[in-house]
Amino acid sequence: MPDVETPVLVVGGSLVGMSAAVFLGHHGIGATVVEHHRGTAIHPRAALITQRSMEAFRTIGIEKVVREESEKQFVQDGAVMAVETLAGRELAWFIANLNEGVRDVSPTVRLFITQKLLEPLLQKRAEELGADLRFATEMISFEQDSASVTAVVQQRDTSQTYRIRARYMIAADGPRSGIREQLGIPMRGRGILSNSVTIYFRAPLAPLLRGRNLSVILVSNSSLRGFFRIEKPFETGFLVVNTTGNPAHPNEDLWTGLTNDRCIEYLRAALGDDSVPITVDDVMKWNTRADVAERFSEGRVFLAGDAAHVMPPYGGYGGNTGIQDAHALAWKLAYVLRRSAGEDLLSTYEPERHRAGSMTTEQAYTRYVTREAKYLDRGSLQPQVEDLNVEMGYSYDSSAIIPESDADSRAHENPRESRGRPGSRAPHLWLEPGVSTLDLFGRNFSLLTSAEGTGWLQAAPLAAQRLGIELDAHQIGHANFCDRYGISAAGAVLVRPDGFVAWRSQSAVDSPEATLVRTISAVLNRPLL
Ligand SMILES: Cc1cc2nc3c(=O)[nH]c(=O)nc-3n(C[C@H](O)[C@H](O)[C@H](O)COP(=O)(O)OP(=O)(O)OC[C@H]3O[C@@H](n4cnc5c(N)ncnc54)[C@H](O)[C@@H]3O)c2cc1C
Repeated sequence: MPDVETPVLVVGGSLVGMSAAVFLGHHGIGATVVEHHRGTAIHPRAALITQRSMEAFRTIGIEKVVREESEKQFVQDGAVMAVETLAGRELAWFIANLNEGVRDVSPTVRLFITQKLLEPLLQKRAEELGADLRFATEMISFEQDSASVTAVVQQRDTSQTYRIRARYMIAADGPRSGIREQLGIPMRGRGILSNSVTIYFRAPLAPLLRGRNLSVILVSNSSLRGFFRIEKPFETGFLVVNTTGNPAHPNEDLWTGLTNDRCIEYLRAALGDDSVPITVDDVMKWNTRADVAERFSEGRVFLAGDAAHVMPPYGGYGGNTGIQDAHALAWKLAYVLRRSAGEDLLSTYEPERHRAGSMTTEQAYTRYVTREAKYLDRGSLQPQVEDLNVEMGYSYDSSAIIPESDADSRAHENPRESRGRPGSRAPHLWLEPGVSTLDLFGRNFSLLTSAEGTGWLQAAPLAAQRLGIELDAHQIGHANFCDRYGISAAGAVLVRPDGFVAWRSQSAVDSPEATLVRTISAVLNRPLL
């Protein structure tokens, strides 16, 4: 007998593993998480949290506390821009105000909060929702059969080993994923682009900021290319250095010969002011890389986060894409574990998230090359698409989506234009102050209709009973609802627990109950009753 039995084993308890534990807990699944480190992140790393991630955090009840913590750390709504040096010439303003022009598409906002502050909030929520978190615990091997995954783990302090048996396993074990390696899943893409460094430092930076509200400051000059992020009260921050020397033929290996003095040299070259006193606190070495795992699953094991895709931190997409992976996987695992869905529902994780992860990785690569590493532009760049398309406009094409005859398989679109198209994120509308359409989703399937949708409303509980699932039915009175969701007043829209439109009927049908039973069975990949 194994020593621990759990429905889902999550390997890696950093941003993505901890998010997976929270989303599973939200669906009533108490996961077991093993994490090599003794606690959550000690380095800031990811900080830009997109609206889509914030929407997921809103669903699990931590949006408010995330916003509050963010306010303590960063001035809100800063710019993303490029300079020659912080003290010197400005080169470009990519985003003048982080939330300019995007507030209408979501009930929430983009913000900055570092992993150091965010992960403890996720940890607390995961524990509240019943996760079993095991820090200082390393997974050392695993095997799977047709019924379960059995992992051998080791407690680092005592060296004690024991076995954990799970129905499913999530590999949230980061860019060098040992699980991905053991499964023999190769990475495909642009490869390793540089041996980069992040230098965490202290310095009086306020005079160099000159009152500018800057969230991300790209630095590009003849000495180096990278970026700053600076926290309140402008005395601490980090400098990422990706390449140094001649921008056309740069040095991509920052690891060799790295000393404290070299770090100070880099900081001076980026600050552009030799008089500023600087203290280097820490240095982190990592690879700038743009690669996606060939497959996102193998049997009962699912890759999520950097284990599945590694992208340059240009656009701030890496951690967010991982949060979306966890969000997309959690409800499917919960439905299958509860036997509400057929096991094939899990095979929809890969087509849905692989396409989104690949598109996002390429978009991060395009931003890296055009903003910082022009020497890599060899004519194979995907054209840059709008940030909103990447952040929340990715769309799904799988057997858990019922396409329309006029549907196409576009990988992304502007969320203002998707208008309830099956496969896209269900649009936001304020229903009353503080309550969005998005607040109707999160746990169950939801059926939305408008004033003339009474037939659908009556059919919903009957269909739910026949299917043995929860189905929330809502009649939406908002004047723009039909237009925003692309239906007539007698139509209906079926939204999945992850807030994606699974199916819609533009108008009324003769037998709504049978239609709903047939449709939801198909979406859940289970046989028709
Ligand atoms: C400088 C920088 C800035 C960035 N900025 C942003 C940003 O603004 N926004 C954004 O979205 N992303 C950003 N990113 C990317 C983001 O940091 C990563 O995408 C994110 O941290 C990935 O999280 P993860 O949980 O998948 O992997 P990781 O954070 O790598 O976590 C993996 C965890 O698994 C554990 N682990 C591994 N193997 C085992 C094992 N066998 N047993 C137990 N535990 C194990 C590790 O200890 C680790 O804690 C940035 C990255 C960098 C370097």
